Amino acid sequence: MPKNKTIHWYIGPRCNASPRCTYCFEQDILFSGDPANKNLELNSPANLRRIARRLNEFRLERVILGGGEPLLVSNLWEVLNMLRGHTLTEVHTNGILLYQNQDRVNKLKDNVDSIALPLDSFNPQIQRQLRSYNAIQVFESVFGLLLKDKRTELGIHTVATTANLEDISEFYKGLKSRGFDFWKIYEMNAALAFSRLISSLDTVEGYNQFLDLVPRIRQLAGLPKEVVRGNMFRSYDFARRVLDLEKTLETSRDQRVKVVLLDDHPEDYLFLNNAGEVMGYSLRSPDDVSERTVFGNIFYQDLDEIISSMEYREIVEDKDRVRFHAQAA
Ligand code: SF4
Repeated sequence: MPKNKTIHWYIGPRCNASPRCTYCFEQDILFSGDPANKNLELNSPANLRRIARRLNEFRLERVILGGGEPLLVSNLWEVLNMLRGHTLTEVHTNGILLYQNQDRVNKLKDNVDSIALPLDSFNPQIQRQLRSYNAIQVFESVFGLLLKDKRTELGIHTVATTANLEDISEFYKGLKSRGFDFWKIYEMNAALAFSRLISSLDTVEGYNQFLDLVPRIRQLAGLPKEVVRGNMFRSYDFARRVLDLEKTLETSRDQRVKVVLLDDHPEDYLFLNNAGEVMGYSLRSPDDVSERTVFGNIFYQDLDEIISSMEYREIVEDKDRVRFHAQAA
């Protein structure tokens, strides 16, 4: 059984950030007003318990609970209790439900090993382009409460876009002064952001949102206005600028900071949904958007079998990725 693997479990089918964040790429998330019975069985407490039991059989290094918003999951505490003692646990939350709520923050601290919050900048003008809710205020409140009597690992997730690239060094200074254990900066994934828009094109609201968001997403991902073959979803220039961040931030000296490019696909990191499917979110090449490649299903297969599958090997050993990096560097 694999002992060094991290599973990122998309446990939360709903989100309370509305309207959703500009770069959000989750397709199946439910927002208030969506039919409550969608995927009822998959998201039921019984199914989540079944998944947790299965994960415990794999002796994983870490299970990350994300979503959507994991704190909206009705039996989150039960699942966390089941996992603890078998693996390290980490929660990725937008923090809205923890805002100014010391009791809830304490409960989370008592039940997980690691917590990560999202933020892209301390500059309100920049942050407003990316997240709809008052993200800076939520972050400051929750981060402060988490630092008090600190007993979990504490991290930040940032999406690198054209809106915040120039500001990242300033942002870094702000984060350093507050203190943190890890900071991951992800290259914006325009292909996934577009694909979630396409999935809601069949309603008038969805169509209007598509027209509004397409130019904004293009701009944030540094894509040119005109479509050039092989350059539809990713710009070499933008990828190069994200790569340069590593040098700017001197990440070699600060081991807590990691810049993650779109096609970085570490072998020890897998994604899981409530259907039991193990996936990779990865662009195989600049013009291939076959994201969410499913490698297998934990209900029918062992993890060893899944990671030795052809699809999995193809992605982690992808030659196109190496070519892209060489061209972007
Ligand atoms: S908080 Fe996360 S899941 Fe919710 S809309 Fe924003 S990016 Fe999407």
